[in-house]
Amino acid sequence: MPDDLDPAAGITGDARGRLRADCGRCFALCCVAPAFSASVDFAIDKPAGTACPNLNAGFRCAVHEQLRPRGFRGCAVYDCFGAGQQVCQVTYGGRDWRAAPDSARQMFDVFAVMRTLHELLWYLSEALSRPAAAPLHAELHDARARTMLLTCADADTLLAVDVPALRQAVHLLLLQASDLVRAELPGGAGNRRPRRRPRGADLLGANLAGADLRGAALQGTLLIGADLRGADLRGADLLGADLRDTDLHGANLHGALFVVQAQLDAARGDATTALPPALTRPVHWTRTADPTRPDPRTHPVAGSGPGPGTVPIPSSSPSAARPRRSASSPRSPRSPRSPRSPRRR
Ligand code: SF4
Repeated sequence: MPDDLDPAAGITGDARGRLRADCGRCFALCCVAPAFSASVDFAIDKPAGTACPNLNAGFRCAVHEQLRPRGFRGCAVYDCFGAGQQVCQVTYGGRDWRAAPDSARQMFDVFAVMRTLHELLWYLSEALSRPAAAPLHAELHDARARTMLLTCADADTLLAVDVPALRQAVHLLLLQASDLVRAELPGGAGNRRPRRRPRGADLLGANLAGADLRGAALQGTLLIGADLRGADLRGADLLGADLRDTDLHGANLHGALFVVQAQLDAARGDATTALPPALTRPVHWTRTADPTRPDPRTHPVAGSGPGPGTVPIPSSSPSAARPRRSASSPRSPRSPRSPRSPRRR
């Protein structure tokens, strides 16, 4: 266990740097364990527990440099939050599923649990990094310490974890932390952001270009293909928001809450998109703007921007088709509860 994630040593600061995938210490669990459904994100169907045909003998992806053009965009946006190396190197002590096929099924099941634990650690660590959430820090520390101890448990213990209950408990803490953080933003009623939470709201393809979404509660919101160019998302809570093909050119996500790398990797943006400090700019983002759409920073769209902290919910959903997903696949960026597929190097 990394020192800064050692509950015995105390937990301080933002430890999320330790919750990143290290493919060189993993046996490509994400390329084997989940099922894939052929879709815009995956070029093939693949049953759970079966190695992807692109996986080579050295646990590396043979098409890593061409994932997007070959139809494996889902692989390019997956993040295991470091669960892969934890399972391979800690839980199974460096034993791989090819050398020990009898334990392969168990290892894949453990990976699914571990990924959730690491994901929750990411969010808890972010909440702990927010000074405004100080009234909750004791509870957040406790939840993180207990979760970290689980990540070091044996396989049987991990498989016995009540994952939905743990997720729910953490989720409630995160919601409270979100309220505290967003309450400090300017413009909120009594310095408290509106409590309206359109969790899971459907804003597919919505025109939110240039919108003032500071401190907005966008948890679980479907923003697939939405136009958020130039939008101000500072302090917005994007926990579980689906940002596939969301246009973030010029948007400001500085201080946005609970954004993960998979969400950015699934979206579109450019060098002018302001990111939360713990995240990196996706390599596929370029400075090239879509010439078919006016830049909201230079051509504001009348009436496109809701007020601070409010989110317009369309009376009817756009008809955009939703990509197909496998129910057993952990690959959807629609929710941090189940982000996406592998990025095997
Ligand atoms: S990264 Fe994707 S395409 Fe490459 S081996 Fe893994 S699952 Fe297959």
